[in-house]
Amino acid sequence: MKNSVLKLTTALILGSALFGGTAAAQYPERPVSMVVPFSAGGPTDTVARSLAEAMRPALGETVLVENKGGAGGTIGVSHVARSKPDGHTILLMHIGFSTAQSLYKNPGYSSESFDPIGLVLDVPMTIIARSDFPADNINELIDYVKANPEKVSLANAGIGAASQLCGTMFSSAIGVDLLTIPYKGTGPALNDLLGKQVDILCDQTTNTSQHINAGTVKAYAVTSKERVPTLPDLPTMQESGYDGFEIGIWHGVWAPKGTPQPALDKLQEALKAGLADQAFQERMAGLGANLLADRANPEALSTHVDQQVPQWAELFKQAGIEPQ
Ligand code: ASP
Repeated sequence: MKNSVLKLTTALILGSALFGGTAAAQYPERPVSMVVPFSAGGPTDTVARSLAEAMRPALGETVLVENKGGAGGTIGVSHVARSKPDGHTILLMHIGFSTAQSLYKNPGYSSESFDPIGLVLDVPMTIIARSDFPADNINELIDYVKANPEKVSLANAGIGAASQLCGTMFSSAIGVDLLTIPYKGTGPALNDLLGKQVDILCDQTTNTSQHINAGTVKAYAVTSKERVPTLPDLPTMQESGYDGFEIGIWHGVWAPKGTPQPALDKLQEALKAGLADQAFQERMAGLGANLLADRANPEALSTHVDQQVPQWAELFKQAGIEPQ
């Protein structure tokens, strides 16, 4: 009897330890995968790799960047929407998260497919061309494109990408339809522009800054309201006479819907800590990005997305852009 009570007690203690162990499992249990829905070496990848490093100490685990490019980012975003909601797969995406919901009949996800973690930063765009392009300033660029529309190719990262949005704004502002060449990200698009295989590109300063400063591309304008402090010689599009041509590429972090609250809390804490990291701040500022530290929370991101989705839907409708 004594023996069996002892056995039972041991079994109970062991059982509860095991059960308790599972219920209170530490998060994260292994490295967290941060999906970037574009190619490696591009602007989103650049932000992701720095952010992954900056989030690691607070998360207590490595954050591995996983590139899943294609279809303007929708392939990678819908991959995360379908991933196991356990906090080990998260998404870094930008404005395209909201625009693609109106540009595609079925983008493979909706805002409801995700639990928001927070906003990260906002990045201006630049209009650039291959280094031997026959135009030295924005007016010459526009004159050349208008006079030779069939000769000019415009690279982008597919429908739903920031570069496609900006390229469409540019084409419609100057009233010219250009031949567009889609890539899985602006990393490879910029490589082809450096190789002089494509002519022009509208891309984020997080990708273009180093080439603009090195003089390996021609740069004409920025799309922000004010000039970008790190690229002070570039006029804004508004200064160049294109009123209302203003666009910033906001970025956010999401987890698949149904991620347990303790994991969401931990991810949010790590995002906040990442944005407070000095090395991250300096690197992003050097690339022209503006941190959105005071909006790095779920409420701010979900409010923002809830405003953005209908706003873009309306703008596309007014512009006669049909979902495909
Ligand atoms: N941000 C994308 C990239 O990382 C490109 C884009 O949205 O235009 O390649």
